[in-house]
Amino acid sequence: AFDLLTVGGGPAGAAAAVYAARKGIRTGVAAERFGGQVLDTLGIENLISVPYTEGPKLAAALEEHVKQYDVDIMNLQQAVELVPASEPGAEHEVRFASGASLKSRTLVLATGARWREMNVPGEAEYRNKGVAYCPHCDGPLFKGKRVAVIGGGNSGVEAAIDLAGLVKEVILIEFMDELRADEVLQNKLASLPNVEIIKGARTTQINGDGAKVSGLTYEERASGELRDIELEGVFVQIGLVPNTEWLRGSPIELSAHGEIITDERGMTSVPGIFAAGDVTTVPYKQIVISLGEGSRAALGAFDYLIRQ
Ligand code: FAD
Repeated sequence: AFDLLTVGGGPAGAAAAVYAARKGIRTGVAAERFGGQVLDTLGIENLISVPYTEGPKLAAALEEHVKQYDVDIMNLQQAVELVPASEPGAEHEVRFASGASLKSRTLVLATGARWREMNVPGEAEYRNKGVAYCPHCDGPLFKGKRVAVIGGGNSGVEAAIDLAGLVKEVILIEFMDELRADEVLQNKLASLPNVEIIKGARTTQINGDGAKVSGLTYEERASGELRDIELEGVFVQIGLVPNTEWLRGSPIELSAHGEIITDERGMTSVPGIFAAGDVTTVPYKQIVISLGEGSRAALGAFDYLIRQ
């Protein structure tokens, strides 16, 4: 059994493992895919003190750092059920799809999140070749270019406002007949000279020249007519889905969006179970933030352990 087990091996889980191991406690990492979303990322330019790196390189560095310590890494393990301790101080259990089960006095849940995709032709093909999901990450790559933002909720409108300051022109495309973002954001968006808003439009396809995005096609829902727009980038902002399906039915308190709610030390609603990174309600899902949050949760868990 472990003193601290992280479920998830992205930046948050890796950071939690390093911090825990440095306290000399028995530490494990169980992850479906060590490295997490970082593995799907091309260039990374906002990990402060590392001006440029690439996803697979950073994932390897995370693993190398964890392996400097006596940490059990169990890769390719998908957690399917959480059985919290029956009494304070007892062990929590995590069950895996493989049939394995692990016990630990504290847990750091760091299963991350995934961007909701449109699932239209061209989206997967041009991912990282013009199709992007994170304006904080990829916005500067589109300087001077024409881009679309798909989605008129808060994240879509925030992205459009953000990008309008960086790129030449932004076209916001919303499926419904009205934007769903807060009014203050909508007013700000409407005040920007280089933003066009298209409502009642269903994006049907991302177009490209084989190497990169060259435009998109949408259906004007009222008329059913298809229209093409030429552009160089598409930011898909239709939701970030936390990987908490496996926690349904557990007593861990989740937000309306399914994110894990934590306190200021990263502890969830269940004593001894902590959470960190994109899977939680922490705003602004970023690598540097997940690293910090994972470290904080491990320190929170250590504090909890020494009080038992
Ligand atoms: P994740 O990285 O999502 O890791 C989650 C971990 O949990 C993985 O190991 C996963 O396999 C595991 N897991 C999930 N479910 C289970 C389960 N049921 N059982 C066991 N394990 C499970 N951020 C930046 O700061 N800069 C960038 O340039 C940048 N670019 C990005 C580009 C792309 C294409 C994407 C998708 C994201 C990008 N991000 C970027 C965001 C950044 O990758 C995330 O904020 C960060 O990886 C979150 O770390 P995390 O550890 O919380 O979660």
